[in-house]
Amino acid sequence: MSSAGPKVKKVHNRTTYDVIIIGAGSVGTPTALYLAEAGVSTLVIDRCASVGQGASKAAIGGIRATHSDAAKIRTCLKSIEIFSQWEERYGDDIEWSRGGYSFIAYREREEKILKDLLVVQQSYGLDIGWLDRDELLEVVPDLNRDGLIGGTYSPGDGSASPLLSTYVFYRQGLKLGADYRFNESVSEITRENGRVRRVVTDRGTYEAPVVINAAGAGAREVARMVGLDVPVVPDSHEAGVTEPVAPFLKPMIVDIRPVEGSANYYFYQHATGQVIFCVTPDPPIVGTDRRETSGFLPHISRRLVDLMPRLRSIKVRRSHDTGRLTHRRLG
Ligand SMILES: Cc1cc2nc3c(=O)[nH]c(=O)nc-3n(C[C@H](O)[C@H](O)[C@H](O)COP(=O)(O)OP(=O)(O)OC[C@H]3O[C@@H](n4cnc5c(N)ncnc54)[C@H](O)[C@@H]3O)c2cc1C
Repeated sequence: MSSAGPKVKKVHNRTTYDVIIIGAGSVGTPTALYLAEAGVSTLVIDRCASVGQGASKAAIGGIRATHSDAAKIRTCLKSIEIFSQWEERYGDDIEWSRGGYSFIAYREREEKILKDLLVVQQSYGLDIGWLDRDELLEVVPDLNRDGLIGGTYSPGDGSASPLLSTYVFYRQGLKLGADYRFNESVSEITRENGRVRRVVTDRGTYEAPVVINAAGAGAREVARMVGLDVPVVPDSHEAGVTEPVAPFLKPMIVDIRPVEGSANYYFYQHATGQVIFCVTPDPPIVGTDRRETSGFLPHISRRLVDLMPRLRSIKVRRSHDTGRLTHRRLG
Protein backbone atom coordinates (compact mmCIF):
# COMPACT_ATOMS: atom_id res chain seq x y z
CA MET A 1 0.00 0.00 0.00
CA SER A 2 1.33 3.39 -0.86
CA SER A 3 -0.24 5.48 1.88
CA ALA A 4 -0.63 4.91 5.61
CA GLY A 5 -3.98 4.23 7.29
CA PRO A 6 -5.98 6.92 9.09
CA LYS A 7 -3.70 8.65 11.60
CA VAL A 8 -6.30 9.25 14.27
CA LYS A 9 -8.25 6.31 15.57
CA LYS A 10 -11.88 7.29 15.45
CA VAL A 11 -13.80 7.18 18.71
CA HIS A 12 -17.45 7.39 17.81
CA ASN A 13 -20.32 7.34 20.24
CA ARG A 14 -22.79 8.12 17.54
CA THR A 15 -25.77 5.78 17.26
CA THR A 16 -28.05 7.41 14.65
CA TYR A 17 -27.31 7.28 10.91
CA ASP A 18 -28.97 7.71 7.54
CA VAL A 19 -27.95 4.18 6.53
CA ILE A 20 -26.67 1.09 8.32
CA ILE A 21 -24.90 -1.57 6.26
CA ILE A 22 -24.63 -5.08 7.68
CA GLY A 23 -21.44 -6.70 6.35
CA ALA A 24 -17.99 -5.28 5.58
CA GLY A 25 -17.11 -7.43 2.57
CA SER A 26 -16.69 -6.64 -1.11
CA VAL A 27 -20.33 -5.48 -1.25
CA GLY A 28 -20.55 -3.52 2.02
CA THR A 29 -17.26 -1.62 1.87
CA PRO A 30 -17.67 0.05 -1.56
CA THR A 31 -21.33 0.76 -0.77
CA ALA A 32 -20.25 2.61 2.38
CA LEU A 33 -17.56 4.49 0.48
CA TYR A 34 -19.93 5.78 -2.20
CA LEU A 35 -22.67 6.62 0.31
CA ALA A 36 -20.16 8.58 2.39
CA GLU A 37 -18.95 10.32 -0.77
CA ALA A 38 -22.55 11.34 -1.46
CA GLY A 39 -22.80 12.85 2.03
CA VAL A 40 -24.97 10.09 3.51
CA SER A 41 -24.11 9.27 7.13
CA THR A 42 -23.27 5.58 7.15
CA LEU A 43 -22.44 2.90 9.70
CA VAL A 44 -21.08 -0.52 8.71
CA ILE A 45 -21.37 -3.37 11.22
CA ASP A 46 -19.51 -6.66 10.92
CA ARG A 47 -19.18 -9.58 13.30
CA CYS A 48 -15.57 -10.15 12.20
CA ALA A 49 -12.57 -8.26 13.55
CA SER A 50 -11.77 -6.42 10.31
CA VAL A 51 -12.87 -5.91 6.71
CA GLY A 52 -13.11 -8.62 4.09
CA GLN A 53 -12.98 -11.58 6.45
CA GLY A 54 -16.03 -13.35 4.99
CA ALA A 55 -16.14 -14.79 1.46
CA SER A 56 -14.21 -11.80 0.15
CA LYS A 57 -10.85 -12.96 1.40
CA ALA A 58 -11.31 -16.38 -0.18
CA ALA A 59 -11.97 -15.04 -3.70
CA ILE A 60 -9.26 -15.55 -6.29
CA GLY A 61 -9.60 -11.98 -7.54
CA GLY A 62 -11.05 -12.30 -11.03
CA ILE A 63 -12.94 -9.21 -12.20
CA ARG A 64 -14.83 -9.68 -15.44
CA ALA A 65 -17.60 -8.05 -17.37
CA THR A 66 -17.86 -11.23 -19.44
CA HIS A 67 -21.33 -12.27 -18.33
CA SER A 68 -24.54 -13.21 -20.11
CA ASP A 69 -26.88 -10.81 -18.35
CA ALA A 70 -27.16 -7.14 -19.38
CA ALA A 71 -27.28 -5.80 -15.81
CA LYS A 72 -24.21 -7.81 -14.79
CA ILE A 73 -22.28 -6.74 -17.88
CA ARG A 74 -23.02 -3.06 -17.27
CA THR A 75 -22.33 -3.22 -13.53
CA CYS A 76 -19.08 -5.07 -14.06
CA LEU A 77 -17.90 -2.70 -16.80
CA LYS A 78 -18.33 0.04 -14.19
CA SER A 79 -16.45 -2.08 -11.62
CA ILE A 80 -13.57 -2.56 -14.04
CA GLU A 81 -13.43 1.19 -14.58
CA ILE A 82 -13.18 1.74 -10.81
CA PHE A 83 -10.61 -1.01 -10.16
CA SER A 84 -8.45 -0.06 -13.12
CA GLN A 85 -8.35 3.63 -12.17
CA TRP A 86 -8.02 3.16 -8.43
CA GLU A 87 -4.25 3.47 -8.14
CA GLU A 88 -4.14 6.54 -10.37
CA ARG A 89 -6.98 8.16 -8.44
CA TYR A 90 -6.13 7.24 -4.84
CA GLY A 91 -2.52 6.05 -4.98
CA ASP A 92 -3.09 2.54 -3.58
CA ASP A 93 -1.73 -0.53 -5.31
CA ILE A 94 -4.58 -3.07 -5.32
CA GLU A 95 -2.70 -5.43 -7.66
CA TRP A 96 -4.99 -4.58 -10.58
CA SER A 97 -3.87 -6.40 -13.70
CA ARG A 98 -5.66 -6.36 -17.06
CA GLY A 99 -4.89 -9.87 -18.29
CA GLY A 100 -8.24 -10.52 -19.97
CA TYR A 101 -10.46 -13.60 -19.76
CA SER A 102 -10.63 -16.49 -22.18
CA PHE A 103 -13.47 -19.03 -22.17
CA ILE A 104 -12.15 -22.00 -24.12
CA ALA A 105 -13.88 -24.66 -26.26
CA TYR A 106 -12.75 -28.21 -26.90
CA ARG A 107 -16.15 -29.46 -28.01
CA GLU A 108 -18.87 -28.21 -30.36
CA ARG A 109 -21.26 -27.91 -27.41
CA GLU A 110 -19.13 -25.28 -25.64
CA GLU A 111 -18.24 -23.59 -28.95
CA LYS A 112 -21.96 -23.08 -29.65
CA ILE A 113 -22.74 -21.86 -26.11
CA LEU A 114 -19.89 -19.35 -26.20
CA LYS A 115 -20.58 -18.13 -29.74
CA ASP A 116 -24.29 -17.68 -28.99
CA LEU A 117 -23.36 -15.67 -25.90
CA LEU A 118 -20.96 -13.50 -27.88
CA VAL A 119 -23.86 -11.97 -29.78
CA VAL A 120 -25.52 -10.91 -26.52
CA GLN A 121 -22.26 -9.76 -24.95
CA GLN A 122 -21.23 -7.67 -27.95
CA SER A 123 -24.69 -6.10 -28.14
CA TYR A 124 -24.12 -4.72 -24.61
CA GLY A 125 -20.84 -3.13 -25.58
CA LEU A 126 -18.46 -5.76 -24.22
CA ASP A 127 -15.06 -5.85 -25.91
CA ILE A 128 -15.02 -9.58 -26.66
CA GLY A 129 -14.29 -11.66 -29.72
CA TRP A 130 -13.86 -15.23 -30.90
CA LEU A 131 -10.33 -16.55 -31.47
CA ASP A 132 -9.90 -19.68 -33.53
CA ARG A 133 -7.46 -22.36 -32.41
CA ASP A 134 -4.28 -20.76 -33.78
CA GLU A 135 -5.21 -17.23 -32.70
CA LEU A 136 -5.98 -18.50 -29.20
CA LEU A 137 -2.67 -20.35 -29.03
CA GLU A 138 -0.91 -17.08 -29.78
CA VAL A 139 -2.52 -15.58 -26.66
CA VAL A 140 -2.24 -18.75 -24.54
CA PRO A 141 0.57 -20.86 -26.07
CA ASP A 142 0.53 -23.50 -23.31
CA LEU A 143 -3.05 -24.70 -23.78
CA ASN A 144 -3.39 -28.37 -24.66
CA ARG A 145 -3.63 -28.35 -28.47
CA ASP A 146 -5.42 -31.71 -28.76
CA GLY A 147 -9.00 -31.03 -29.76
CA LEU A 148 -8.80 -27.29 -29.09
CA ILE A 149 -11.40 -25.46 -31.21
CA GLY A 150 -10.92 -21.89 -30.01
CA GLY A 151 -12.34 -19.56 -27.41
CA THR A 152 -13.58 -16.12 -26.50
CA TYR A 153 -11.15 -13.42 -25.48
CA SER A 154 -12.13 -10.28 -23.58
CA PRO A 155 -8.96 -8.24 -23.09
CA GLY A 156 -10.58 -5.62 -20.82
CA ASP A 157 -11.19 -8.02 -17.92
CA GLY A 158 -8.62 -8.50 -15.18
CA SER A 159 -7.92 -9.22 -11.56
CA ALA A 160 -7.10 -7.47 -8.31
CA SER A 161 -6.44 -8.45 -4.72
CA PRO A 162 -9.77 -8.96 -2.90
CA LEU A 163 -8.25 -8.15 0.49
CA LEU A 164 -6.38 -5.05 -0.65
CA SER A 165 -9.48 -3.85 -2.46
CA THR A 166 -11.86 -4.21 0.46
CA TYR A 167 -9.23 -2.60 2.68
CA VAL A 168 -8.83 0.49 0.46
CA PHE A 169 -12.61 0.81 0.07
CA TYR A 170 -12.83 0.71 3.87
CA ARG A 171 -10.06 3.23 4.39
CA GLN A 172 -11.35 5.64 1.78
CA GLY A 173 -14.84 5.33 3.29
CA LEU A 174 -13.41 6.19 6.73
CA LYS A 175 -11.73 9.27 5.31
CA LEU A 176 -15.05 10.38 3.88
CA GLY A 177 -16.82 9.92 7.22
CA ALA A 178 -18.23 6.37 7.22
CA ASP A 179 -18.16 4.64 10.61
CA TYR A 180 -17.30 0.98 11.11
CA ARG A 181 -18.02 -1.28 14.06
CA PHE A 182 -16.28 -4.63 14.09
CA ASN A 183 -16.72 -7.62 16.41
CA GLU A 184 -20.43 -6.86 16.58
CA SER A 185 -22.99 -9.37 15.50
CA VAL A 186 -26.41 -8.12 14.39
CA SER A 187 -29.11 -10.13 16.15
CA GLU A 188 -32.25 -8.08 15.61
CA ILE A 189 -33.71 -5.39 13.37
CA THR A 190 -36.75 -3.64 14.79
CA ARG A 191 -39.42 -1.86 12.77
CA GLU A 192 -41.92 0.89 13.44
CA ASN A 193 -44.94 1.54 11.22
CA GLY A 194 -43.66 -1.03 8.76
CA ARG A 195 -40.23 0.60 8.36
CA VAL A 196 -36.88 -0.45 9.75
CA ARG A 197 -35.86 1.63 12.72
CA ARG A 198 -33.16 -0.01 14.87
CA VAL A 199 -30.36 -2.50 14.45
CA VAL A 200 -29.49 -4.41 17.59
CA THR A 201 -26.12 -6.09 18.06
CA ASP A 202 -24.53 -7.96 20.93
CA ARG A 203 -22.87 -4.69 21.93
CA GLY A 204 -25.28 -1.89 21.15
CA THR A 205 -28.32 -0.47 19.40
CA TYR A 206 -28.18 1.85 16.37
CA GLU A 207 -30.90 3.72 14.52
CA ALA A 208 -31.39 4.33 10.81
CA PRO A 209 -34.35 4.52 8.43
CA VAL A 210 -32.46 2.43 5.86
CA VAL A 211 -30.61 -0.86 6.43
CA ILE A 212 -28.58 -2.49 3.65
CA ASN A 213 -28.18 -6.23 3.85
CA ALA A 214 -24.63 -6.95 2.63
CA ALA A 215 -24.20 -9.97 4.88
CA GLY A 216 -23.08 -12.40 2.17
CA ALA A 217 -23.69 -15.96 3.34
CA GLY A 218 -25.56 -14.50 6.32
CA ALA A 219 -27.97 -12.50 4.13
CA ARG A 220 -30.89 -14.88 4.54
CA GLU A 221 -30.54 -14.85 8.33
CA VAL A 222 -30.43 -11.03 8.32
CA ALA A 223 -33.47 -10.76 6.02
CA ARG A 224 -35.42 -13.06 8.34
CA MET A 225 -34.95 -10.42 11.06
CA VAL A 226 -37.51 -8.30 9.19
CA GLY A 227 -39.70 -11.22 8.16
CA LEU A 228 -38.35 -11.56 4.62
CA ASP A 229 -37.15 -14.78 3.07
CA VAL A 230 -34.52 -13.88 0.47
CA PRO A 231 -33.30 -16.90 -1.52
CA VAL A 232 -29.57 -16.58 -0.72
CA VAL A 233 -28.07 -20.03 -0.30
CA PRO A 234 -24.32 -20.11 0.28
CA ASP A 235 -22.22 -22.81 -1.35
CA SER A 236 -18.51 -23.33 -0.86
CA HIS A 237 -15.89 -23.16 -3.55
CA GLU A 238 -12.28 -24.16 -3.06
CA ALA A 239 -9.17 -22.58 -4.48
CA GLY A 240 -5.49 -23.41 -4.64
CA VAL A 241 -2.24 -21.52 -5.09
CA THR A 242 0.96 -22.89 -6.62
CA GLU A 243 4.56 -21.94 -6.14
CA PRO A 244 5.61 -18.85 -8.16
CA VAL A 245 7.02 -19.48 -11.64
CA ALA A 246 8.21 -17.25 -14.50
CA PRO A 247 5.39 -15.43 -16.35
CA PHE A 248 3.74 -17.67 -18.97
CA LEU A 249 0.02 -16.89 -18.82
CA LYS A 250 -1.86 -13.60 -19.18
CA PRO A 251 -5.63 -14.19 -19.21
CA MET A 252 -7.88 -16.02 -16.75
CA ILE A 253 -8.73 -19.32 -18.45
CA VAL A 254 -12.27 -20.60 -17.94
CA ASP A 255 -13.27 -24.12 -18.94
CA ILE A 256 -17.06 -24.54 -18.79
CA ARG A 257 -17.08 -28.25 -19.63
CA PRO A 258 -18.88 -30.04 -16.83
CA VAL A 259 -16.93 -33.05 -15.56
CA GLU A 260 -17.87 -35.35 -12.73
CA GLY A 261 -17.50 -33.37 -9.53
CA SER A 262 -17.30 -29.87 -10.98
CA ALA A 263 -18.83 -27.40 -13.39
CA ASN A 264 -16.69 -24.36 -14.28
CA TYR A 265 -12.98 -24.48 -13.76
CA TYR A 266 -10.84 -21.31 -13.89
CA PHE A 267 -7.27 -20.28 -13.28
CA TYR A 268 -4.77 -17.51 -13.97
CA GLN A 269 -1.22 -16.55 -13.17
CA HIS A 270 -0.92 -13.83 -10.58
CA ALA A 271 1.57 -11.00 -11.10
CA THR A 272 3.74 -12.57 -8.39
CA GLY A 273 4.04 -15.77 -10.46
CA GLN A 274 1.70 -18.14 -8.64
CA VAL A 275 -1.04 -19.94 -10.53
CA ILE A 276 -4.35 -19.51 -8.70
CA PHE A 277 -7.07 -22.01 -9.54
CA CYS A 278 -10.63 -22.76 -8.54
CA VAL A 279 -13.60 -24.96 -9.44
CA THR A 280 -17.33 -24.62 -9.08
CA PRO A 281 -18.25 -27.89 -7.35
CA ASP A 282 -21.08 -29.88 -8.91
CA PRO A 283 -23.20 -30.83 -7.08
CA PRO A 284 -22.74 -27.64 -5.05
CA ILE A 285 -21.34 -27.91 -1.53
CA VAL A 286 -24.20 -26.10 0.14
CA GLY A 287 -23.65 -24.46 3.52
CA THR A 288 -21.09 -22.40 5.32
CA ASP A 289 -18.54 -25.08 6.16
CA ARG A 290 -15.35 -23.57 4.72
CA ARG A 291 -12.93 -26.37 5.53
CA GLU A 292 -11.00 -27.69 2.57
CA THR A 293 -11.97 -31.11 1.20
CA SER A 294 -9.62 -34.01 0.55
CA GLY A 295 -11.07 -34.51 -2.94
CA PHE A 296 -10.33 -31.01 -4.20
CA LEU A 297 -6.65 -31.22 -5.04
CA PRO A 298 -6.67 -34.60 -6.87
CA HIS A 299 -9.73 -33.48 -8.83
CA ILE A 300 -8.44 -30.07 -9.82
CA SER A 301 -4.97 -31.38 -10.60
CA ARG A 302 -6.39 -33.61 -13.32
CA ARG A 303 -8.27 -30.70 -14.86
CA LEU A 304 -5.24 -28.40 -14.72
CA VAL A 305 -2.75 -30.88 -16.20
CA ASP A 306 -5.25 -31.91 -18.86
CA LEU A 307 -5.61 -28.28 -19.98
CA MET A 308 -1.95 -27.33 -19.57
CA PRO A 309 0.29 -30.41 -19.60
CA ARG A 310 3.25 -28.13 -18.99
CA LEU A 311 2.05 -27.60 -15.42
CA ARG A 312 2.41 -31.23 -14.42
CA SER A 313 5.43 -30.55 -12.22
CA ILE A 314 4.34 -27.34 -10.57
CA LYS A 315 3.97 -27.54 -6.79
CA VAL A 316 0.80 -26.51 -5.02
CA ARG A 317 1.63 -24.44 -1.99
CA ARG A 318 -1.76 -24.22 -0.37
CA SER A 319 -5.46 -24.53 -0.85
CA HIS A 320 -8.28 -22.60 0.81
CA ASP A 321 -9.26 -22.02 3.55
CA THR A 322 -7.03 -23.51 6.17
CA GLY A 323 -3.85 -22.32 4.49
CA ARG A 324 -2.34 -25.76 4.97
CA LEU A 325 0.89 -26.28 3.06
CA THR A 326 0.59 -29.22 0.74
CA HIS A 327 3.75 -29.14 -1.35
CA ARG A 328 2.26 -31.78 -3.58
CA ARG A 329 3.20 -32.22 -7.22
CA LEU A 330 0.31 -32.14 -9.66
CA GLY A 331 1.21 -34.81 -12.18
C1 LIG B 1 -12.63 -19.85 -3.58
C2 LIG B 1 -13.44 -18.66 -4.05
C3 LIG B 1 -13.08 -17.99 -5.21
C4 LIG B 1 -13.81 -16.89 -5.65
N1 LIG B 1 -13.39 -16.22 -6.76
C5 LIG B 1 -14.04 -15.11 -7.16
C6 LIG B 1 -13.55 -14.35 -8.26
O1 LIG B 1 -12.52 -14.68 -8.88
N2 LIG B 1 -14.23 -13.21 -8.61
C7 LIG B 1 -15.36 -12.81 -7.92
O2 LIG B 1 -15.95 -11.77 -8.28
N3 LIG B 1 -15.85 -13.53 -6.88
C8 LIG B 1 -15.21 -14.65 -6.49
N4 LIG B 1 -15.68 -15.35 -5.41
C9 LIG B 1 -16.94 -14.91 -4.78
C10 LIG B 1 -16.71 -13.73 -3.85
O3 LIG B 1 -15.78 -14.09 -2.85
C11 LIG B 1 -18.04 -13.34 -3.18
O4 LIG B 1 -19.07 -13.24 -4.13
C12 LIG B 1 -17.92 -12.01 -2.47
O5 LIG B 1 -16.80 -11.99 -1.64
C13 LIG B 1 -19.16 -11.75 -1.64
O6 LIG B 1 -18.97 -10.52 -0.94
P1 LIG B 1 -20.01 -10.09 0.14
O7 LIG B 1 -19.59 -8.73 0.61
O8 LIG B 1 -21.39 -10.28 -0.38
O9 LIG B 1 -19.87 -11.19 1.31
P2 LIG B 1 -18.74 -11.39 2.41
O10 LIG B 1 -17.40 -11.01 1.94
O11 LIG B 1 -18.91 -12.77 2.96
O12 LIG B 1 -19.17 -10.30 3.50
C14 LIG B 1 -20.31 -10.45 4.30
C15 LIG B 1 -19.95 -9.99 5.70
O13 LIG B 1 -21.15 -9.93 6.47
C16 LIG B 1 -20.82 -10.25 7.81
N5 LIG B 1 -22.04 -10.68 8.49
C17 LIG B 1 -22.89 -11.66 8.10
N6 LIG B 1 -23.92 -11.76 8.98
C18 LIG B 1 -23.71 -10.81 9.94
C19 LIG B 1 -24.40 -10.43 11.12
N7 LIG B 1 -25.54 -11.02 11.50
N8 LIG B 1 -23.87 -9.45 11.90
C20 LIG B 1 -22.69 -8.84 11.54
N9 LIG B 1 -21.99 -9.17 10.43
C21 LIG B 1 -22.50 -10.14 9.64
C22 LIG B 1 -19.78 -11.35 7.67
O14 LIG B 1 -18.95 -11.39 8.82
C23 LIG B 1 -19.01 -10.93 6.43
O15 LIG B 1 -17.79 -10.24 6.73
C24 LIG B 1 -14.97 -16.46 -4.93
C25 LIG B 1 -15.33 -17.11 -3.75
C26 LIG B 1 -14.58 -18.20 -3.31
C27 LIG B 1 -14.97 -18.88 -2.01
